[in-house]
Amino acid sequence: MLKIPQFEEIYGRPPRWIVAAPGRVNVIGEHTDYNDGFVLPMAIERYAVMAADVSPAAPPRILVHDSRARDTAQIDVSKPVTKADPRWSNYIRGVVAGFQNRGLTIPSLDISLVSTVPLGGGLSSSAALEVCTATLLETAIGTKLDPVEKALLCQQAEHEFAGVPCGIMDQFISVMGQKDHLLLLDCRSRQTTLVPMNDPSVALLVINTNVKHELSGGEYAERRLQCETAAKILGISSLRDATVETLERARRKMDLFTFHRARHVISEIERTLQTAEAIPNANWPAVGEYMYGSHYSLRDDFEVSCKELDVVVEICRSIGIKGGVYGCRMTGGGFGGSCVALVKAEAADNISNRISTAYKFATAGGETKNGIEATVFSSRPASGANVIKS
Ligand code: ADP
Ligand code: MG
Repeated sequence: MLKIPQFEEIYGRPPRWIVAAPGRVNVIGEHTDYNDGFVLPMAIERYAVMAADVSPAAPPRILVHDSRARDTAQIDVSKPVTKADPRWSNYIRGVVAGFQNRGLTIPSLDISLVSTVPLGGGLSSSAALEVCTATLLETAIGTKLDPVEKALLCQQAEHEFAGVPCGIMDQFISVMGQKDHLLLLDCRSRQTTLVPMNDPSVALLVINTNVKHELSGGEYAERRLQCETAAKILGISSLRDATVETLERARRKMDLFTFHRARHVISEIERTLQTAEAIPNANWPAVGEYMYGSHYSLRDDFEVSCKELDVVVEICRSIGIKGGVYGCRMTGGGFGGSCVALVKAEAADNISNRISTAYKFATAGGETKNGIEATVFSSRPASGANVIKS
């Protein structure tokens, strides 16, 4: 689903360039990134898209009309760009600043923006917006950054201009995704491997539970600390270097929580590598089992799931392979957000409806009586950032 932003209606002439960058879903590899492990994300068929042209305005400035905010942000690029209102413009400002820091001169630009990546839904509309901006600037300036440098520039924008201390996954997949491929990313070396998934008989479903539980605070920080503690006890720099066997042998040296957290991370890294091996062979039942395994590990050992995510996984399990579902797991940090399921493509619509109905039923009762509406869509592995018109 790629929407082209209105440009002529806003600026009175056709655009010179159109560029797009996708959101993503992480297929497997959860809470492994800050343990130097592997993640296996996929670019989804939802994109931030910018249409643009140069403008004669002086001193140079960038105008961005955003169809969602129905608002235009103005960015003075004659001097170093800093954080400013409106808030959503900071993702763009951060990327512009990154280009300026590399000594690149930014021209006056008129831009219009539209995005089909749901905002704040854990599908990384933020990285899509950053990478879209970087792709447009590359095109307008006539220079191409190295893909790793481009992704890191966008990550830095998210750190410094949005104040979100994210890892490298979202920007890497939005830059480097390829149609019909997943991306295996080594969060230690930053090495990337494209994993072919060109069997058209399967698709991924993204099922948003539409709940986000308020945390009492510190849940994520606590788990990071437990992972670090476990590594320290094992005498290694990160859990990447441990095996389930070495952990088992050290079981009595740590408390049970620390042990469980570490067991999730170590087994999840293993499952991620096994999944990356099974996908090119189209071994979908095996991939599905790794996904369920990931979910149960996140639920029981890492303890970051919640009732609604568990409900979706159990609905998928009960539909089963006969009904077209190979596997399902929560995706993202946890405590709400979305699940990702591997399904037979021909059954995807039917499965979406079955999940929505069963989820609504399962979450009904109590005070409200009304169940929760899930938001479900299917996607094949999409391509990363690209120039649609130049
Ligand atoms: P996620 O990346 O999971 O969607 P984030 O909270 O990281 O969630 O990013 C969402 C924020 O990104 C929004 O609140 C908004 O500020 C900004 N954003 C992303 N895409 C757009 C867009 N098309 N228009 C305006 N703001 C956007
Ligand atoms: Mg984000």
